[in-house]
Amino acid sequence: MDVLYRSTRGAKEEVTASQAILQGLAHDGGLFVPTEVPQLSCDLRTLAGMNYRELAYEVMRLFLTDFTEEELKGCIAGAYDEKFDTEEIAPLVKVGGAWHLELFHGATIAFKDMALSILPHLMTTAAKKNQIKNEIVILTATSGDTGKAALAGFADVPGTRIIVFYPKDGVSPIQEKQMVTQKGDNTLVVGIHGNFDDAQNGVKVIFGDEELEKELDAAGFQFSSANSINIGRLVPQVVYYVYAYVQLLARGEIADGEEINVVVPTGNFGNILAAYYAKLMGLPIAKLVCASNENKVLYDFFRTGEYDKNRPFILTSSPSMDILISSNLERLIYRIAGADAGKDTELMAERSKSGK
Ligand SMILES: *Cc1c(COP(=O)(O)O)cnc(C)c1O
Repeated sequence: MDVLYRSTRGAKEEVTASQAILQGLAHDGGLFVPTEVPQLSCDLRTLAGMNYRELAYEVMRLFLTDFTEEELKGCIAGAYDEKFDTEEIAPLVKVGGAWHLELFHGATIAFKDMALSILPHLMTTAAKKNQIKNEIVILTATSGDTGKAALAGFADVPGTRIIVFYPKDGVSPIQEKQMVTQKGDNTLVVGIHGNFDDAQNGVKVIFGDEELEKELDAAGFQFSSANSINIGRLVPQVVYYVYAYVQLLARGEIADGEEINVVVPTGNFGNILAAYYAKLMGLPIAKLVCASNENKVLYDFFRTGEYDKNRPFILTSSPSMDILISSNLERLIYRIAGADAGKDTELMAERSKSGK
């Protein structure tokens, strides 16, 4: 079955997975969502016998249906290699009575490496498949970790350039040093006056500028995104939830079909959305627990049903969670609004007008 992607704000146009990855954000400002979330194709016991790369292929091929087996396996092999300091890629360990999935074994020690080490491969493969002659310019807003992981992933990748925007006073000193010392002839880092939401809004405005798009095209460039608004970020993240579950199964920690709860520290709502997609695919997940820091706009939303970003933006010691406008929440809203693009557009317009 082919999975196509459509915008959360306009149901008409459907694009392939590779086109959605190339574009990043839909032209109407919406986010690409799969027309249908695919179901896991083989039983979990079979998946439990696979290593991370094999499992990644089994899960990702269901979403990225216009990639050939050779293309996708090539992307996976190029991503999950010695850049990770463990063959397991995402080890599952028990600490204090709870299981923890270690997602920090990649090149920049941020969990973002899980997706950003494969995104450049997906992007360049997608460009080839779609006969794109333009150079791809990745625009990325970061609250700290995405920037470095994206820079590391795209540095010196032929046919791409990357520009990262970060809040000058909103990332940790280490994160800033990680970014501004990045090597690569195609990388650029910009500190902005403002917070993460300002950086992300600015990037979205650039994406929506059709005049600029034409001008760039004439000069041989086109924009894409390395933020989790890009479906190419989300799909690789679904993999490790399936991996964690089947690891528990393989070790006899859970019985067949037994449900687990998943707790995710949340900022832009990408990581926990990937867990939700895993659940929709048939992975036995009972509860998804959305953990926030003091910028608890999502916590309040799930408690009260009201999203209200009219509050002070607090700089904390966990800057990657300092976000008041969580982009990926739109994908959940769209779904629970009955895949109704009109309703979603209305709610998003209201949120941008009143902040609620
Ligand atoms: C990115 C990040 C988060 C937030 O993840 P989202 O997918 O944006 O919700 C939380 N913690 C750390 C350390 C991060 O790097």
